Amino acid sequence: MSILINNVLLNHEIVDILIEGNKIVKVEKNIDAVVDTLIDGTDKAVIPGLINAHTHAAMTLFRGFADDMKLEAWLSEKIWPNEANLTEEYVYWGTRLACLEMIKSGTTLFHDMYWHTDPTIQAVIDSGIRGVISSVLFDSSSEEQGAALRQVALETLKKQHLNNRIQISIGPHAIYTNSRSMLQWAKKTADENNLLIHIHLSETKTEVENAKSLLGCTPVEYLEKIGILGENVVAAHCVWLTDHDLELLAKRDVKVVHNPASNMKLSSGISFRYNDLKAAGLTIGLGTDGCSSSNNLDMIEAMKLASLLSKASSEDPTSMSVQETMNLATVNGAKIFNINAGRVEVGCLADLCLVDLKRPDMVPNHNFLSNLIYSSNGSCVDTMICDGQVVMDHRQVKDEQQILEQAALCAEKLFYKS
Ligand SMILES: [Zn+2]
Repeated sequence: MSILINNVLLNHEIVDILIEGNKIVKVEKNIDAVVDTLIDGTDKAVIPGLINAHTHAAMTLFRGFADDMKLEAWLSEKIWPNEANLTEEYVYWGTRLACLEMIKSGTTLFHDMYWHTDPTIQAVIDSGIRGVISSVLFDSSSEEQGAALRQVALETLKKQHLNNRIQISIGPHAIYTNSRSMLQWAKKTADENNLLIHIHLSETKTEVENAKSLLGCTPVEYLEKIGILGENVVAAHCVWLTDHDLELLAKRDVKVVHNPASNMKLSSGISFRYNDLKAAGLTIGLGTDGCSSSNNLDMIEAMKLASLLSKASSEDPTSMSVQETMNLATVNGAKIFNINAGRVEVGCLADLCLVDLKRPDMVPNHNFLSNLIYSSNGSCVDTMICDGQVVMDHRQVKDEQQILEQAALCAEKLFYKS
């Protein structure tokens, strides 16, 4: 399979891009090649596929179901009781809906943490994008549940070579939902199998206060004390970090994921220490979190929110420039998940999007990245290629109508008929 994209804007130049198999093999002017698929890039700009480093895909089914609540009550009253009724069918169609939305807004890879990984993996395979899938781990409700979830995580691990667009990670939900022995099991399993650990960390002030009173230290210090922190830890949120936490995260090269929409909506906090984390040399990715707390999976919107929030909270308008913001969602994500993507360059995976420039929010084009992040939103993505395959062509995606109908039906059955 080969694809040639003609006359597309890349940075400040009009170029052609040749894709063979799943790689970008040429980026230059006037490429002469006989290919299977020719794409006219006139009036389009090319960007790397965006990387959503923290979400819960099937929670699209919870979109708009429980808004305007505090995190602890929201989880215990609205989310967890309904998640107990999830079936494989619901998770499959919820994840298909998430993938459809991600495709239509430019995301080619997402990092998931959820229940029922088999249908999640199948939905990713059927959708054509990439997924790094963690089976969620919890043992705060009972030891039996913890043992059952460990078994699911081990079964999920066997799927890591099923498809080259699938990676598996290990997902202990948080320190307050997992015992010390569960966290240590997660660490051992991740290290033995060369996997990432996916965890919510220092998300709310309550989480930190509880850790201090129950454990005598911050959540980050606790993870250091019990030997969890390391370069394979992907820590979502990290809103409430002390200077010592920051030192520990930097020393252990922990990867941090900023989730601005969710942090604001759940009032988890607005003081994500972007400038301090950057100065300490940490790798920072960007995520939407699940649709129950961010309501959509639009990474272009997430970039805008991240940048504006950083400027507002630091009282510094130079904080998180457009290029830095773009890096969070592209090259930094690629570094976290150790894939050769996040750039449109020869040798990289062919994960890219063509963005429509003939829209009111893209005119005039003084600075394309500025228009993309500050002015537009995910609907500017016209065409997506992932792993060398066209997954969206002029906003047409395979199975779209069926996905919309089935996901709506599953949500109705989950909340109103079960
Ligand atoms: Zn989350």
